[in-house]
Amino acid sequence: MIQTIRGFRDILPGDTPLWQAIEQTASRLFEDFGFKEIRLPLIEQTELFARSIGEVTDIVEKEMYTFPDRKGENITLRPEATASVVRSYIQHKMYAADPIQRLYTMGPMFRRERPQKGRYRQFYQINAEVFGIAAPHIDGELILMLNELFGRLGLTDLTTHLNSLGCPECRPLFHRALTEFLRSKHGGLCSDCTRRMDKNPLRTLDCKVPGCREAMLDAPTTLDHLCSECSDHFDKVKEILTRQEVDFQVDKTLVRGLDYYSRTAFEVQTTALGAQSAVAGGGRYDALVRELDGPEVPAIGFAIGLDRLAGVMEQLQEPVKTRELDLFVIPLGPGALDQAYYCCSRLNLAGIRCDTDYSGKSLKGLMKRADKLNAGHVLILDMRKSDNKESATGAVLRNMKTREQTTLSMQAPDMQVPYDEIIKILTDKGMPRD
Ligand code: AMP
Repeated sequence: MIQTIRGFRDILPGDTPLWQAIEQTASRLFEDFGFKEIRLPLIEQTELFARSIGEVTDIVEKEMYTFPDRKGENITLRPEATASVVRSYIQHKMYAADPIQRLYTMGPMFRRERPQKGRYRQFYQINAEVFGIAAPHIDGELILMLNELFGRLGLTDLTTHLNSLGCPECRPLFHRALTEFLRSKHGGLCSDCTRRMDKNPLRTLDCKVPGCREAMLDAPTTLDHLCSECSDHFDKVKEILTRQEVDFQVDKTLVRGLDYYSRTAFEVQTTALGAQSAVAGGGRYDALVRELDGPEVPAIGFAIGLDRLAGVMEQLQEPVKTRELDLFVIPLGPGALDQAYYCCSRLNLAGIRCDTDYSGKSLKGLMKRADKLNAGHVLILDMRKSDNKESATGAVLRNMKTREQTTLSMQAPDMQVPYDEIIKILTDKGMPRD
């Protein structure tokens, strides 16, 4: 039997109503905030990720699905979406029409991490990115919007962790302090950290090895090295979040795993999922558009981990109900099969969830099936007594909850089911029409 590859999984029909509810709630909310959807390819040139996320990061060094295509060009299954959104913003010169763009996108990402609960090799994100606004208000707006989304989805046990990573102005000072600190710990760090110490010291701060975490407890922090502009920016973000009653906590250890972040970095964490606690993360990346050969345009964004969000919601809430069957048509007698088919397709087109059965089973057997499908109504088309349509017994519409029955007469010239009458009865009973 052929099965999914390790770290990959199917999202089955029982789970998709929850995913759809999250996606619909998100797009509705984001569009209210002026965001527009963008859809991007899943494969990009490897260089895009190496240059944006950073060569000396876990993602680029160890986790990307990179392979040569048939002409030898290195291509990569995207490990995240921000780089692609930035690439698209530059490629299509969106900044020329208006540097300010609010964009969102949803879809799968690929990272070859060690799979565990809440960590997959193909996982899904919802991303929102804002280009062209340097003001701290937009940092506040994004975090507010993220918290509002979680609130609308009924999640409460979440905390927004907030930090500032500084800018090219203050970063060198911090790097120097950090490198000095790392030298003092030399010997006690893992081989990755020892290697990264000079190349990319910031990445030692997100090392997961317990010995390194211990050693880094009293490492210098970016917050202690912010220039006055970064410090003012950070204060303003905190002021805005406080005024808008968004719960947050300053977390000096939050550095995120990607190189492109500057100033505000944030992560929404939950206690409901054990080790994999981050359900969303984001931050400013004011230099990235420029670094990918675009103009000098500030930007900020976040990514929500859809798998983890759905995982938390599954644990905390009643399952999202799938839409039930409005009507099950029971054809009795071979002559009824065609009528049942035409009836169902006609009602489906009119927005009524309707199904039938072609197996020729008895009334008893088909009533059982209607129960199994949880049908709101059944329509019994009894044509057993006749071999010509004119003498058909007729149709009975039965409400499965109240047991109320309505006898309907078939309509000439070819004994059609009275669709309008059925639609009227079903919709008067408040059947869903979305
Ligand atoms: P990142 O792009 O690493 O900042 O991740 C943003 C969000 O995506 C995280 O907060 C997670 O919720 C989710 N995420 C990242 N990697 C994985 C993964 N391997 N499996 C499931 N979710 C993930």
